[in-house]
Amino acid sequence: MDLNNLTLAAARQLLDNRQITSRQLTEYYLRRLKKYDDQVHASLLIDETGALKQADEADQRLISGDQTGVLGIPYLVKDNILTKGLKTTAASKILADYIAPYDATVIAKLRQSGAVLLGKANLDEFAHGTSTENSAMGPTKNPYDLERVPGGSSGGSAAAVAADFCLFALGSDTGGSVRHPASLCGVVGYKPSYGAISRHGLIAMASSTDVIGILAKTASDAASVLRIIAGQDKFDATAQTKLATAKIKDKINWADLRIGWPDEYVSTGLDLAVLDSLTQVKNFLQEHGAKIIPLSLPSTKYGVAVYHVITSAEVSANLARFDGLRYGYKQSAASLNETYLINRGHFGAEAKRRIMLGTYILSAGDGCFYYNQAQRVRRWISYDFDQAWEKVDFLLTPTVPRPAFRLSQKINDPLSLYLEDALLTPASLAGVPAVSWPTGWSGDGLPIGSQLIGPLGNDYDLLTLTQAMQTALPCLRRRLAWEK
Ligand code: GLN
Repeated sequence: MDLNNLTLAAARQLLDNRQITSRQLTEYYLRRLKKYDDQVHASLLIDETGALKQADEADQRLISGDQTGVLGIPYLVKDNILTKGLKTTAASKILADYIAPYDATVIAKLRQSGAVLLGKANLDEFAHGTSTENSAMGPTKNPYDLERVPGGSSGGSAAAVAADFCLFALGSDTGGSVRHPASLCGVVGYKPSYGAISRHGLIAMASSTDVIGILAKTASDAASVLRIIAGQDKFDATAQTKLATAKIKDKINWADLRIGWPDEYVSTGLDLAVLDSLTQVKNFLQEHGAKIIPLSLPSTKYGVAVYHVITSAEVSANLARFDGLRYGYKQSAASLNETYLINRGHFGAEAKRRIMLGTYILSAGDGCFYYNQAQRVRRWISYDFDQAWEKVDFLLTPTVPRPAFRLSQKINDPLSLYLEDALLTPASLAGVPAVSWPTGWSGDGLPIGSQLIGPLGNDYDLLTLTQAMQTALPCLRRRLAWEK
């Protein structure tokens, strides 16, 4: 049987019709990982024994008639999400030998539903980055061009889905980290509404925008995973966003849709292939009767600056716990100060940059001046979205201004990396759901994504619309680097 490029939905059918077992499916992905991941470096750890055991258990449940969305489905998880008994490193030297003592809530839910955890995916250290080159374990490569980055920081998760190493992967998105690599790797990357999915067991980067997101081949696959991992959690007081039941039907009435076309996202600095791809989406919608409404979100230009002030401050607070005394790397020294210096010296350059910037932001002047000021501007960004929802149902934008850049091309220029997120940070700061899905290819054969942003809590409608776009304008997968 040809399992090549299977979707979760297709695998579900094969499993439910007894055409394949979860063990066979799991062995297939383990084989692919063994064969090709030396080149991509999407994974940091493969738990072959654990995966096969879970697959056998899933097969037992299938035989007894049990069926849930992810029963028997193999997946990978970004290595900043805790997995009991397995290493969880956040791609940092500080946590290189850290074994998680409990499962994150999302992992516990997936385990209960019978999903098969294959292993852990690479990322930028502590999720700080846009290229996965900040991993202390070495970079991930783009499966379509091994000399290019996969995007980041969930680059391992996105590359793994693109390379067909698993049926879906979890990532985290603080300011674009699921959508960015999804766009560069040609897969779907969905960032939920803030608080829709528990963050318990996600190693905190910036708590006020951190969310766990889903990477998959289709938006409806992402929705199947969402149904399992969404919901309140007694371990996460911020997991309070109730998701609305979908109003949009699978067979969409296009003429009912009002789609916003925000000037600030489309007017400058886009690669022509990116604009072309987005325009095709827009034209399709228009031709089918949807109203395309040009509008302005004037505070968009402050997104990156506000994001870096707020998140660096939160990063410096969240990473304070890695002090050589409690978690992870521990080397004792003569004095407390020296202990801090030796142990915290193991942070990578980008983590250090953010800790220092954040510490400054929280202590300069009269304490919280910069942070508070950034919070005020963040309100404007949210207000822009609130205003937009009065006129439109969703916003259509590019995900990233350009396709994948070359490895090492930007690594010494943090500012240009930060600017990669210009179209991604506003949705994170406002907490609204957003999804990137593949809509085209550049002249060099690199994937291009487009983004849909929706109102808080409307995640299922957002994914239904995205799936309808994927079905109407299929962006067929091309050959991976080693298939050319
Ligand atoms: N690229 C962004 C950054 O470097 C986003 C990171 C994230 O979403 N985790 O901060």
